[in-house]
Amino acid sequence: MQFKKVANFARVIKLGYKHLNQMKELKRTKIKALLESNNFGDIINVRGWVRTKRSSKNVAFITLNDGSTIHNIQIVIDLSEHGEESIQFIHSGAALSVNGELIESPGSGQNVELNAKEFTILGKADPEEYPLQPKKHSLEFLREKAHLRFRTNTFGAIARVRHSMIFAIHKFFNDKGFYNIHTPIITGSDAEGAGEMFRVTVLDPKSPPLNEDKSVNYKEDFFGKETNLTVSGQLEAELAALALSEVYTFGPTFRAENSNTTRHLAEFWMIEPEMAFYDINDDMDLAEEMLKFLIRYALEHCADDLAFLSKRQQDEDKNKKQEDRAPMELIEKLNFVLKNDFARITYTEAIEILKNSKPNKKNKFQFPVDKWGVDMQSEHERYLVEKHFEKPVIVTGYPKDIKAFYMKVNEDDKTVRAMDVLFPQIGEIIGGSQREENYDVLLKRMREMNVPEKEMWWYLETRKFGTVPHSGFGLGFERLIQFITGMGNIRDVIPFPRTPQNAEF
Ligand code: ATP
Ligand code: MN
Repeated sequence: MQFKKVANFARVIKLGYKHLNQMKELKRTKIKALLESNNFGDIINVRGWVRTKRSSKNVAFITLNDGSTIHNIQIVIDLSEHGEESIQFIHSGAALSVNGELIESPGSGQNVELNAKEFTILGKADPEEYPLQPKKHSLEFLREKAHLRFRTNTFGAIARVRHSMIFAIHKFFNDKGFYNIHTPIITGSDAEGAGEMFRVTVLDPKSPPLNEDKSVNYKEDFFGKETNLTVSGQLEAELAALALSEVYTFGPTFRAENSNTTRHLAEFWMIEPEMAFYDINDDMDLAEEMLKFLIRYALEHCADDLAFLSKRQQDEDKNKKQEDRAPMELIEKLNFVLKNDFARITYTEAIEILKNSKPNKKNKFQFPVDKWGVDMQSEHERYLVEKHFEKPVIVTGYPKDIKAFYMKVNEDDKTVRAMDVLFPQIGEIIGGSQREENYDVLLKRMREMNVPEKEMWWYLETRKFGTVPHSGFGLGFERLIQFITGMGNIRDVIPFPRTPQNAEF
């Protein structure tokens, strides 16, 4: 938007006419670039939202942020020159366009500031109504203001880290020769077995067409069959991997599980690589390499935001009980994961460790571990990672009864080639496996687990035509962001969380 056009509809306050003609031609400079510049004396245009305003008799200081960086630019307005009334409509939350001279900042805390020559209020913000006054707000409060919370330091930082991680994920796979595959969001199979699904229908809920036995006749529905939102793109990604060798999906997934935890969303994003000719060990190697690549990328590209988030976590921890505090400073934690090989153990070994652990013996676990075969709960996963190994852990060889039908059955016929990557603070961050490539074994597993084989004809066919060993995994994107940012609640690492009873915004 040109400054000239803005001037037509917004209130313009002219402060000094010296550079006016030149200013009208000014292109906007982002604050990030400005803060890195030392071209003092340049006349620059910045636009953004007011964070704070403070004024004394002769001068006003306004901090402006445009989202390009966590840092603000300080705008200095000489009131003796421009009059007190020139700032009467500038409040936190208002949008400004400012033309000014870049000067070296005499104050501490910033290197450069902008000496305002001329500015426009693009959009006012009534201080009586604007909810984000410059003070500390609780995360719970900000969840109710999700339409505005991008404007806080915390959510700006998270949005930028999220973006960097999306970019890094595509870079990681692209550099390795993986192809990104779009798998369907509306799915006709409810056999993925990863959780409760959301139905997709255009039938009238009040009077749906009925079969003779009074059940709903989905043949009359939009797709002529029952459809749902996908819980995973894996099954379709496998089809692509069995031609393109190495592929990945990165899409939204939906689970109607009523689990109100700090690690579950009803709508979340998942990265699912699927690789032909990989066995379970190759799968684990890729998972570890990828997580380390992403963490390193964040450290290199998001340093300012991570420094802010680290300080934020330390401030929050001051009000927490010792045992609830982060055991390590955020950046130290990220470096620690980079430096250490992940521990790799079998489920059987994990159960032995847990059975003999202090919290189990002292009955401190909510779910006591008494026998081989039980599913591991998040408290167990975190014990292994945070207390026993003190680093990320990959667990393999889970009992087949607690895992999905498509996982390759081991020679013992009791366990499957599953692998879960467990992280501190998060628990399971990745779930994956080598896939069953043997047609007969797969069919047997489907029958055992009541997976409708008729519906899954296309999946089974890949095991008839040129089947090969292959593997893959699913990384929960929001859990990754939780780990990188240190945020305790998954609702705070996605812009608009979808959780039970909550779909506002
Ligand atoms: P959990 O046991 O933690 O509920 P899961 O075993 O159901 O997870 P998978 O089906 O293996 O999860 O999904 C792969 C990955 O997706 C998980 O490792 C996790 O990172 C992420 N994930 C799973 N469910 C959710 C959810 N409801 N919200 C956010 N991320 C999730
Ligand atoms: Mn899992």
